[in-house]
Amino acid sequence: MANMTHELIEFINQSPTPFHAVESCAKILEQNGFVPLGEQEEWSLQAGKGYYVTRNQSSIIAFRMPRGKVHNFLITASHTDSPMFKLKGEAISPAFDRYQRLNTENYGGSIYSSWLDRPLSLAGRVVLAQNDKITSHLINFDRDLLIIPNVAIHLNRNVNTGYSYNPAVDLQPLFSQGKDASVKKLIAQELNCREEEIAGYDLFVYNHMSGTVLGVNNEFFSAPRIDNLMCVYGTLQGLVSEESAHAVNVFFAADNEETGSATKQGAGSIFLSDVLDRICEAVQSDRRRLLASSFMISADNAHAKHPNHPELSDPQNAPHMNGGVVIKTNAAQKYATDGISAAVFGEICRHANVPTQPFANRSDMAGGSTLGSISNTKVPLMTVDIGMAQLAMHSAYETAGVKDVAYLVNAMRAFYACNLTVEKDGCYRLSCAKRKVEESSDV
Ligand code: ZN
Repeated sequence: MANMTHELIEFINQSPTPFHAVESCAKILEQNGFVPLGEQEEWSLQAGKGYYVTRNQSSIIAFRMPRGKVHNFLITASHTDSPMFKLKGEAISPAFDRYQRLNTENYGGSIYSSWLDRPLSLAGRVVLAQNDKITSHLINFDRDLLIIPNVAIHLNRNVNTGYSYNPAVDLQPLFSQGKDASVKKLIAQELNCREEEIAGYDLFVYNHMSGTVLGVNNEFFSAPRIDNLMCVYGTLQGLVSEESAHAVNVFFAADNEETGSATKQGAGSIFLSDVLDRICEAVQSDRRRLLASSFMISADNAHAKHPNHPELSDPQNAPHMNGGVVIKTNAAQKYATDGISAAVFGEICRHANVPTQPFANRSDMAGGSTLGSISNTKVPLMTVDIGMAQLAMHSAYETAGVKDVAYLVNAMRAFYACNLTVEKDGCYRLSCAKRKVEESSDV
């Protein structure tokens, strides 16, 4: 189990931006025999084989064709992005005195204070124009490069009594004391190219601290981007380790959840729909019939009851870290879960010996949302919203439970191996293989 957590921390370290998260997924997929496809290419899909396709280099869909006749899709969806700071086109703020700062804007709903006084770095993609070619290159400086310093308490007496950080003033990272410091020069050195060849970039400031395991019994781990790389990792581990007899197993990790999913590659786009269409064409099946028998797990982390603020949780529907997979419900359907999808997923977990726990917001609090219901407007199918209980969501350094990594992986393996059929609307038959419980039985 500790191994799985260390593997997850390594996955997170290798994935500072959505582009790198997609690259990390592609590496694992290729190690497991999955073949890359391009959206611009013709596809010829073979039974029993695995494939993956990316869009914008920041969203990825992988799928494995069954050996038998296709009956349905078993889909997981998670997101590759986390709150960060994005570099603007003119990347250096006006210099004053001896300071050069980067000119950034906030991406997603960050907890601002968590980004101060810790080593930060830069990563993303750089676009080079060379002769008649325009090519995108991933870049990760992967060193302690930047810092956003707090103002000393002697100069800001309000800092402990509710100070409001202004992103345009308080959150610009310190970059250099050199007058000629330049982001393009730094990129050119790293990519071994000429500055004039740099035609564009999407670069993000990220927390450069590694994850770590902590607690008296090593029961917790803390890391950047646990929301939602924990779910990306867990669902991917499920996909690569299982084959289904009659379902196309699909893994979707989408960019831009933190800003509402409404992009060409986000969960609000038709990326998933396009890929499912092409699979339906390949197996000459009616998409509507397949979708009616299909199931999606929308996996995005949940709020654990907070040790210092238990009053912020619903008294009965408050999950704990290390308590198993959280099933999230919301009356307004910000979560796509309903009684039937909760029951189907609950049964899959029960067969896999994975505990589940319910989450709902306090009735006087709005709470968050995620990609399940958004994706359902483009690809409607029975969907459950789940996640693992964590603290400090959207902090630069979040905390979750070590046992939960194994619970998630085991639940996803069981999902991708289950056999679900629809007898009529409201009546389903589920069979789950008897499974050896890996790593979660001793926790
Ligand atoms: Zn999330």
